[in-house]
Amino acid sequence: MGLRFRLLVVSKKFIIVGGGIGGLAAAVALRRAGCEAEVYERAPAFREVGAGVSLWPNATRVLRMWGVLERVLARGAEVTRFDLRRAEGVRLASIAMSGFDTPAVCVHRAELHAALLAELPAACLKTDHTLESFAMAGAGVVARFSGGREARADGLIGADGIHSVVRAQLHGAVAPTFRGYSIWRGLAPAIEGIARGPISETWGRGQRFGIMPIGPDRICWYATCNARAAQADAPGGRKREVQELFADWHAPIGTLIAATREADILRNDARDRPALRRWGRGCVTLLGDAAHPLTPNVGQGACLAIEDAACLAKALAGEEDVAVAYRAYEARRNARTAFVARQSRRIGAIGQWEHPWMVRGRNFITRLLLAGAPPARLNPVYAYEV
Ligand SMILES: Cc1cc2nc3c(=O)[nH]c(=O)nc-3n(C[C@H](O)[C@H](O)[C@H](O)COP(=O)(O)OP(=O)(O)OC[C@H]3O[C@@H](n4cnc5c(N)ncnc54)[C@H](O)[C@@H]3O)c2cc1C
Repeated sequence: MGLRFRLLVVSKKFIIVGGGIGGLAAAVALRRAGCEAEVYERAPAFREVGAGVSLWPNATRVLRMWGVLERVLARGAEVTRFDLRRAEGVRLASIAMSGFDTPAVCVHRAELHAALLAELPAACLKTDHTLESFAMAGAGVVARFSGGREARADGLIGADGIHSVVRAQLHGAVAPTFRGYSIWRGLAPAIEGIARGPISETWGRGQRFGIMPIGPDRICWYATCNARAAQADAPGGRKREVQELFADWHAPIGTLIAATREADILRNDARDRPALRRWGRGCVTLLGDAAHPLTPNVGQGACLAIEDAACLAKALAGEEDVAVAYRAYEARRNARTAFVARQSRRIGAIGQWEHPWMVRGRNFITRLLLAGAPPARLNPVYAYEV
């Protein structure tokens, strides 16, 4: 069967726009399926910055299939439990992250990026290529890059993130939707009292704080607070602002922020986009945040991009006509990605409630619901198989 798939698609060539986690995952998946895939990245080098990323079993299942899970696990921290707390530290719920065929893992996103990159030959990786537009050309597509450079292929995959140029050409340039809060992410050295294994999130009023060890020597944390879109940093800097916002929260939140360098704190707006009914056209499709950017509340954006990549390769492997394969892939992914994005938006909205009575009610109901919830391994988000 593997050989037949290979023969069907061996002559097809693909342009992948964007060398983030989604673009590299697509290249790995397509090359494994026997396709020729080239990644065009606008940056001068292939690298990821940023903080940690949680990879849930729906994604690690795919990484295992590609042979990269071992490397990611060696550099990350396996997640054994998820604790939900109130600001003063009382535990609302504790969810065992066990019983999966592949574990959940938290890792620095640069490590995941490097693990995917290691699977790809240098010849298929093109830096300093900023896509400006594309045009259908016969049965294929021409990609036009800054500086007047062009590339031709049988298909193009827009994996160019939340501000995707490919998406804008297909569907019009529309700004992402701001969801009402800022997110800070910090990287701290390992500190006493925070063991690898459990991760946690703490809910207050209009604020949340998350702790996730991402390896033997680093802890990633994130903090949220209701804010205006593109709100400027406080004059004292990000670290001071987060310290003040979370000053009276439970230990070790204060210690963790204090141990973080100002330069290791990032700030983003919480943004997503409404689900598209149709992602692509002809031999052009979208993948990852270009197709379905979601707020980070369920830690699934990169996971869904990895799922997309595996699903796309599967659709192409069984079909000669790229456009037909793309539509099959989009049909398979549309409901799934829209469901997870909706769930993430809702959890974010509820998590950011401010009114004291609503917060009390939320905490009470969450405690009840999570106490009676089925094991995490049955959760449809984690149980998904491409
Ligand atoms: C605060 C926060 C926390 C998150 N936490 C998690 C988590 O715990 N777990 C998880 O699974 N997900 C998480 N995510 C989501 C995850 O980061 C994204 O979903 C994922 O990185 C998307 O990957 P991508 O490759 O689709 O897009 P991107 O990572 O945005 O990559 C796009 C690439 O395309 C390139 N590019 C853009 N335009 C062009 C162009 N015109 N020409 C050529 N190249 C171009 C860019 O330089 C970039 O390299 C989080 C997101 C945020 C904001």
